[in-house]
Amino acid sequence: MKKVVIIGGGIGGLTLALALKQRGISVTVHEKHDHQQHHQTGFLIWSYAIDSLQKLGVPVDLVGTPLEVFEVHGRSGQKISEMPVGEISRLNGADSYEVNRRRLIDCMSGLVGADLKFGQECVAVETGQESAIASFANGTTDEGDILVGCDGVHSVVRKTIHPHAKLNMLDAGGWIAVVDRHPPLLQENRHMDFWQPGCKAGVADIGNGEARWYVAFNHRLPDDSLSKMKQIELAMVHVPEVIQQCMEMTDETQMISTKAGDLLALDPWYKGRLLLIGDAAHATSPYAGMGACTAIADAFLLAEMLDQATSTEAVFREFQSQRKPAADAVIEQSRHGLDMSTCRSRFRNWVRDWGLSHIPDHKLKQIVEDMVTGN
Ligand SMILES: Cc1cc2nc3c(=O)[nH]c(=O)nc-3n(C[C@H](O)[C@H](O)[C@H](O)COP(=O)(O)OP(=O)(O)OC[C@H]3O[C@@H](n4cnc5c(N)ncnc54)[C@H](O)[C@@H]3O)c2cc1C
Repeated sequence: MKKVVIIGGGIGGLTLALALKQRGISVTVHEKHDHQQHHQTGFLIWSYAIDSLQKLGVPVDLVGTPLEVFEVHGRSGQKISEMPVGEISRLNGADSYEVNRRRLIDCMSGLVGADLKFGQECVAVETGQESAIASFANGTTDEGDILVGCDGVHSVVRKTIHPHAKLNMLDAGGWIAVVDRHPPLLQENRHMDFWQPGCKAGVADIGNGEARWYVAFNHRLPDDSLSKMKQIELAMVHVPEVIQQCMEMTDETQMISTKAGDLLALDPWYKGRLLLIGDAAHATSPYAGMGACTAIADAFLLAEMLDQATSTEAVFREFQSQRKPAADAVIEQSRHGLDMSTCRSRFRNWVRDWGLSHIPDHKLKQIVEDMVTGN
């Protein structure tokens, strides 16, 4: 394997580029935007994926902060769970982090350096006997031994492999934003989640004096033409005080809207010398907080397998068989997470809140361990 063409300079594409470069395999990453566009959002990256980023030399401390405790608040605002994420993560060998996505992407782009090309919108891909070729909107082309589609949820590479694949839209969505000050009620290194009928909200410390917050509706979509704050007030049974503080600190134009969709059971993820990873192969809704972690895990494993590759087809087949069960499980878990955290029935809310607040300590630790290890 001499050269890999990567389409998409998001978290999956950049991780793959760094992992291949570390092994001496040459790469070109093509990103459609003419600079990194990622708005100010944030996400949680669990211990297993942080471990991979650290092995690639990504200075995660500069772009985020370790998560110590993940709090869940139930239907009437009462705290029903405190998950000891920091303690369990360290037992797994690395902290889990809440990060500012733009800072992370900028930092990783800098590490990839001149091998990342901006303003390269891929419009078509082809696979041949010996190579794969990408064509770009600006008339240029690039050729490599293989081409990896890391171009996210609306992947162009996927259209060549599965022209009829369609996202499954979940009738759910919301907004996410970053504030450059801490809401006074948010403690450092904490994430607070609020689960209410038809709606959930959350806020987390992401380091550098910043916090990220979000609101997600179920069976209702965000409408960007109306006041976002009004829609939040109408959707929530009661707006938690810390979320109210975030709302007061946020300019509505900085709130990024999201509509949840996923892509379960796409098979295969490859054709000839083309392969999909990350959201391009297995887009997930965000309610398990795992999509970026899954893209990182894909990239890290793929680089390891390509380093020892003898046959492209065998590597692609083996890669899919190792990664697909985990990726499918994240999609299912995320659908379940949406349903559980926003269910409308009073009875189910009561059972969930009672169950979580009475869960035995060892069981809670097991749940956290499954998340931090990605099992
Ligand atoms: C609201 C929200 C919250 C989330 N929270 C979490 C969380 O807490 N934890 C977590 O692990 N995950 C989370 N996720 C999921 C995570 O963001 C995605 O799963 C992850 O970004 C997927 O990475 P990727 O590299 O596959 O795709 P992307 O990050 O989407 O990157 C794709 C890249 O390809 C580029 N591109 C697209 N088309 C082309 C083209 N034709 N030519 C060239 N370039 C192209 C795009 O510009 C982009 O840079 C969340 C997602 C959302 C929406």
